[in-house]
Amino acid sequence: MENLGKRNLLKQRQSKRANWLGVLAAGLMIFPSVVGGTPVLAQKPERNTLSYGELLQKVEKGQIKKVELDQTEQTARVYLSGRKPDAPPVQVQLLRENTELINKLKQKKIDFAEVSTANNRAAVGLLINLMWILPLVALMLLFLRRSTNASNQAMNFGKSRARFQMEAKTGVKFDEVAGVEEAKEELQEVVTFLKQPEKFTAVGAKIPKGVLLIGPPGTGKTLLAKAIAGEAGVPFFSISGSEFVEMFVGVGASRVRDLFKKAKDNAPCLIFIDEIDAVGRQRGAGIGGGNDEREQTLNQLLTEMDGFEGNTGIIIIAATNRPDVLDTALLRPGRFDRQVIVDLPDLKGRLEILQVHARNKKIAPTVSTEAIARRTPGFTGADLANLLNEAAILTARRRKEAITTLEIDDAIDRVVAGMEGTALVDSKNKRLIAYHEVGHALVGSLIKDHDPVQKVTLIPRGQALGLTWFTPNEEQGLISRSQIIARITGALGGRAAEEIVFGKPEVTTGAGNDLQYVTNLARQMVTKFGMSDLGPLSLENQSSEVFLGRDWMNKSEYSDKIAAKIDLQVREIINSSYNHAKELLQEHRIILERLVDLLAEQETIDGDFFRKVIEENTLVQITNERLAVPH
Ligand code: ADP
Ligand code: ZN
Repeated sequence: MENLGKRNLLKQRQSKRANWLGVLAAGLMIFPSVVGGTPVLAQKPERNTLSYGELLQKVEKGQIKKVELDQTEQTARVYLSGRKPDAPPVQVQLLRENTELINKLKQKKIDFAEVSTANNRAAVGLLINLMWILPLVALMLLFLRRSTNASNQAMNFGKSRARFQMEAKTGVKFDEVAGVEEAKEELQEVVTFLKQPEKFTAVGAKIPKGVLLIGPPGTGKTLLAKAIAGEAGVPFFSISGSEFVEMFVGVGASRVRDLFKKAKDNAPCLIFIDEIDAVGRQRGAGIGGGNDEREQTLNQLLTEMDGFEGNTGIIIIAATNRPDVLDTALLRPGRFDRQVIVDLPDLKGRLEILQVHARNKKIAPTVSTEAIARRTPGFTGADLANLLNEAAILTARRRKEAITTLEIDDAIDRVVAGMEGTALVDSKNKRLIAYHEVGHALVGSLIKDHDPVQKVTLIPRGQALGLTWFTPNEEQGLISRSQIIARITGALGGRAAEEIVFGKPEVTTGAGNDLQYVTNLARQMVTKFGMSDLGPLSLENQSSEVFLGRDWMNKSEYSDKIAAKIDLQVREIINSSYNHAKELLQEHRIILERLVDLLAEQETIDGDFFRKVIEENTLVQITNERLAVPH
């Protein structure tokens, strides 16, 4: 019951991956008890046995041809005389000492033999058990090794084993990074610094030491840094800010020292520090206790940066998506004084990124990369790469030659909304979900300024039981008030339909996400965009998160009285939109019913068909109304 793809689902999806090792281990532990437990081969034949006493009698009577004694298993295989030569021997359970039997056999001159103890049944059983035990032991060793590693680290933290990676040649070129033209242009210069520092030093210019790349995760910051190293042909050292900060005071600082020492040995080179905000946060806020370790690490980093001249051929590139929390000392001249924004790609950017990643994939000529770019606003470069990869995987699974639009569509759905589930069987619930989704889609179609419906489906995906997808009309840089109101109204269409059709007591939790989305939007209208009767005021901090380093003190910027007014405005926006949605649905009740029937039957309706049904039925409705008017 989601209105439009929610990006947070993406994150949930990613976080699920981390568990696989645990699952694997558990699987191995369970298996042995199921498979190895009852070795079928070790079962003894039930029939065809004699007791020890009976055997002695038969020996006495001379009815035995031959006996094989197996001392380990304490059994004897007895071949009776008067049976067919190929008849199976009779099993006899022996005693621990069988002198009487053996004496008798000797006495009666019956052929008997001791069979070797190495019974292959037992061997096979052992082997089967070993097959399960060995991986287990290996796994345990692995864990053991890891934990000793960890404790070793604790023991010699002074020496701090280096945690950075070094790539002598990244092999990445600028043309593999797309959609971030400005950033590329600015960084082009860094390549020249690394390649021909003489050019700059000759005229007395100081080469900058640090560049800060600012942008959300997945926009290609790491890739850009690698491309600089690749273009300049210098080694690439990388470390993540979170790796600096460890449990023990002093480890981070000594890692920084190690890193810079190695880099100096390999100059000219490039050092890339990912997530620098993990070490580089504002120092000394004091709330919640200072973090000595982090501060020491940061100080060491600053010292190292000051310690080498710009001309040594080392350039440091750091990445963050929270420049606002960085310690100002880091941004001072001579440190990360250059800042380059690497933002989410726009339509053109997405198109270029798709083209880069389409290079090594087989894509059917019918697929339009432009259409994909149009459908994926808000996607980062990493999302787009992932999207094409998912499509390729689907194509392989469907045994097709090349990726078609079908696979691309499915991959987008999957990347945005998660895995597809199976549709519900026909039930009241299914109809309710159908009303809810058609409610979204119909209100969205009837209201001006709303994005067009792309499809409505009852096939669950991720956590949503049904989904209505809208195609964002164009690149959404600026959004008008009426567009926001349209979105709020559309998002409330689901709940509105539930209420109209099933009555207030029957409405469900399915609208939970919608309401969250709506409330959030309405609140921003009032407090951020000045779109309410309160007037053009900004009443909120830039970031709603309280960051301990800085914004703690100046948290509330308005009085309780204003807070109450804000709440009132938010409620008004939402209530009037909700009423509007209900009115629209009541007016078009016939179309609503018709669409729900269709959806329940077909499970997915695409946008064009959806609009066609609305059009046809609107005509019918108008004619009916005319006919109903008395002349
Ligand atoms: P960040 O460091 O900003 O989190 P990455 O550089 O690690 O992002 O990006 C991850 C992957 O996503 C890259 O290896 C690349 O395949 C793809 N990617 C991201 N941005 C771009 C881009 N602008 N052009 C091409 N590919 C990109
Ligand atoms: Zn919904």
